[in-house]
Amino acid sequence: MTIFDADALLVRSVPYGESDLVATFVTAEEGKVAAIVRGGRKSTKRFGGALEPLHTVRVRIDDKRGRGGDLGVLREAQLVKIRGRVATDLDALDCAGTALRWARSLIPARTAEELAWATLTGFLDALDEGIGTEISPRMLLAVTAIRLLGDVGYGLELERCVGCQKPCPEGRAAYLDVRRGGLVCTACGGARRRIDTEVRKAALLAQRASSMPDAFHELVISERTAKVLLELVHETLAAHVDLEP
Ligand SMILES: [Zn+2]
Repeated sequence: MTIFDADALLVRSVPYGESDLVATFVTAEEGKVAAIVRGGRKSTKRFGGALEPLHTVRVRIDDKRGRGGDLGVLREAQLVKIRGRVATDLDALDCAGTALRWARSLIPARTAEELAWATLTGFLDALDEGIGTEISPRMLLAVTAIRLLGDVGYGLELERCVGCQKPCPEGRAAYLDVRRGGLVCTACGGARRRIDTEVRKAALLAQRASSMPDAFHELVISERTAKVLLELVHETLAAHVDLEP
């Protein structure tokens, strides 16, 4: 039996037996991890608010792998970073919930996912800081979603044709087939969907930014572009993973 510590985001909590909960976390070091919270159905007071979503928590998990599956036991959980403003804004809360749901489906169990971790926490920070400003939660979510796909290996190829590898000049509209993973040139048959220059440029900037704060600072996108990007992400996710409800 081993015990490990990790920075974590709570992505799901469900009843387990008569008195326990199973909490699922996304962590930087261990990817997705599920742990039993003893007595958690009655009270999680001893964790002092650390078992709410949106905040970064430091968890200590007693790892029981090999004894009936992947479930560990949560020993400690401490708030490391509180993001208290997100819950005061319904739109922000909705966007945060969507990102955490995607993370739950995309991030594999027991695999370090440091890029995805940086993307998710950077998104939640920006969301929290953006409350009460002009910053649109949906725009932040769109940028985050495009990056998150790349972080876990499902990034869309937006620079060249996925068929013949021919580069597509920057600043041009292009055909995109999410099932094939990126752009498809006309010589290779094109695709039903065509993305315009603004959408392609925004997605490329989101992919290329060196950090999450950079991704948000360099990028001001319209609500329409954000909507298209989110559609692309939904379609890509549907093509690759079973999205949990
Ligand atoms: Zn081609």
